[in-house]
Amino acid sequence: MFLKKYISEVFGAVGSLLRGMRTTGWYFVRPKEIITQQYPDNRDQLKLAERFRGEVVMPHDEHNEHACTGCTACELACPNGTIKIITKFDVTPEGKKKKALDTFVYHLELCTMCNLCVVACPTDAIKMAQNFEHSVFDRSKLTKKLNLPGSKIREGIE
Ligand code: SF4
Ligand code: SF4
Repeated sequence: MFLKKYISEVFGAVGSLLRGMRTTGWYFVRPKEIITQQYPDNRDQLKLAERFRGEVVMPHDEHNEHACTGCTACELACPNGTIKIITKFDVTPEGKKKKALDTFVYHLELCTMCNLCVVACPTDAIKMAQNFEHSVFDRSKLTKKLNLPGSKIREGIE
């Protein structure tokens, strides 16, 4: 009884192996039909869906200027404290004090990619980028400063 069951299982396993090998052989002789992408070898050709969200970024132009006024609307919209806006006061040419962004702190490790901060921003200063390779050995590296060193707000943005 036991031997019969054992032999039947061996035949079942060989049958399953042959079925798998048949599929492998079919694609082996038709390489153009293969749709599986081999990550990370496919980095150069990788196409992500437009809606994919990888992290929040702050675009800067060629003059190292951004569109963030430091209004904190994104910080207030964020449901889990991922963003911390630190502001400062700049002095205008007329000698008036004006609130400005000092540091945009972004805790990538907390971000759920919900996009609420991007929607809340009145000046389109931040957006979602598609970078997804975020693995680090040191957790503190996931806390980022989104405004670049020496950057300032673009003229005309209030
Ligand atoms: S995407 Fe969502 S969780 Fe991430 S910083 Fe923006 S509001 Fe917060
Ligand atoms: S990113 Fe937008 S919403 Fe956030 S502080 Fe800057 S201007 Fe305000």
